[in-house]
Amino acid sequence: MEYYPGKFSDLACLTLGKDLWNFLNQQDNIIRMETAIDLGKPAVEAVARELVEKFGDDVRVDRVKQLIGHMVRQIMESRGFQLDAQNVKVLQDRRLFKKASRYVDGAAKTTKIGYVNKNNQKNHGHCGDAGTDHNSRAYELECLECQHRYWANGTDIFQRKCPNCQGGALGILI
Ligand SMILES: [Zn+2]
Repeated sequence: MEYYPGKFSDLACLTLGKDLWNFLNQQDNIIRMETAIDLGKPAVEAVARELVEKFGDDVRVDRVKQLIGHMVRQIMESRGFQLDAQNVKVLQDRRLFKKASRYVDGAAKTTKIGYVNKNNQKNHGHCGDAGTDHNSRAYELECLECQHRYWANGTDIFQRKCPNCQGGALGILI
């Protein structure tokens, strides 16, 4: 796939930038990152050792680390993952990243019964088409903080906040 460098265009056209993009797109590194996501860890944590072994001190530069995060986001989003949270503290392998982004499997995971998002909103399953948008489905969510139940679009589950106690948008009508 093609990288859209945005504010990193100066770095992306260097040999280092091109090598990083190819490296992050290698099958074994993608598997490492997807495994980390399954375990609830930031994706880049899983390739920190490989990055340092291959690129040495070049990847310790802050802006290069930001470039890596920018690239990983595009790779993960192209594979159906969604950004779940930024600046998550890396707990285990801290040799390269101290904080990093965490992703969730957008299609498979958040719409499953029993999924609980970062705001403690639990998915109780799908029940009919959403009233406002018939291309998406409504899911019943329960706030585990206050037990309020409401309906949400499937695509919103990963980031939904409780309308009752967290200032989230009102539940959709079905
Ligand atoms: Zn609540």
